[in-house]
Amino acid sequence: MKTKLCLLYGGKSAEHQVSLQTAKAVIQALSLEKYEIHPIYITTDGQWVKGPILTQAVESVQALQFTKGDEIVPNAMMSALTPNENTGYDVVFPLLHGPNGEDGTVQGMLELLNLPYVGNGVLASAAGMDKVIMKNIFAQAGLPQVKYVWSLRSTWEADPHSAYRYVEEELGYPCFVKPANLGSSVGISKCTNREELEAAYKEAFQFDRKIIIEEGIIAREIEIGVLGNDHPECSVAGEILPKTAFYDYKAKYEDGDTALIIPAEISETVYAKMSDIAKMAFKALDCSGLVRADFFVSDEGKVLINEVNTMPGFTPVSMFPLLWKHSGVEYPELIERLIQLALERYEEKQ
Ligand code: ATP
Ligand code: MG
Ligand code: MG
Ligand code: MG
Repeated sequence: MKTKLCLLYGGKSAEHQVSLQTAKAVIQALSLEKYEIHPIYITTDGQWVKGPILTQAVESVQALQFTKGDEIVPNAMMSALTPNENTGYDVVFPLLHGPNGEDGTVQGMLELLNLPYVGNGVLASAAGMDKVIMKNIFAQAGLPQVKYVWSLRSTWEADPHSAYRYVEEELGYPCFVKPANLGSSVGISKCTNREELEAAYKEAFQFDRKIIIEEGIIAREIEIGVLGNDHPECSVAGEILPKTAFYDYKAKYEDGDTALIIPAEISETVYAKMSDIAKMAFKALDCSGLVRADFFVSDEGKVLINEVNTMPGFTPVSMFPLLWKHSGVEYPELIERLIQLALERYEEKQ
């Protein structure tokens, strides 16, 4: 009997395109002898679609077995996933990045439907999506990180000058302004003066009602993949060498100019520190399945955690799968492991 696997991809967030690339790659890597694939495409305005519309998004994939016709399910996510003669999924793989996908909302729906799903649960997804909450939890766990402050749009609008002064007093320049809930560097700016800070606030508030502002540091950027449930394991480390001022959206998805060095050239001591912190971060947020932990590492070997991503970029050329490939786990096996972890976690909860 084939495993009925539902793939959720696309989504309402600014990371829609990234999710499409991931879905294509995962579908290509899955064994059709083993899996019956039931894809559901979520449009940018949040409609859930099954059938031929999906073929356009994954046109290069010929071997797909579609569930049925060109059925469009506007705002009827629950009915799209509720078991009937066509569905009755064994496991769901949400290949979604950013808000309304990586943030616990979809995970909550899957919990209510009592379906096993790949990756992090409601709490870890929600806490990991909000950079302020995540960093507060890391602080509580004693993990080393950069200084940060945060602001709501309404507070800023009421008195923008006080907002800027506060950042200048607490952090100074350079600083990084980021939407609290997003990824792929969307809406992020580096600021070296007041004028840039003003522009950065405006930009970040286009994506979120809440922003985080961090002390900007000069350090190497090194990442580690974590895989597991209660007993997570770490991959080798990988370094990012962006050609741009920082690792922005363009460097991530458009230029192809960014070099990924795997394994990163770091000492055993630095790797040991990083993998300890990555596992502590995983446990502090009560993660399951996977995360990619992003670090800043200074030349003196000081390690700061920047963030974890609860659904990291997942194409075969993305950092997370590459880290595992270099650790001996090829892409199809990685997907397999994640599905196994999803089923184990589901059993554990029963
Ligand atoms: P993703 O989820 O795709 O990894 P993100 O949108 O969550 O990205 P961050 O990883 O927090 O964003 O930041 C994006 C990039 O901006 C980092 O990889 C780094 O290049 C730069 N950056 C972010 N914060 C800082 C900081 N405090 N100091 C120096 N550089 C920073
Ligand atoms: Mg992130
Ligand atoms: Mg992300
Ligand atoms: Mg990051």
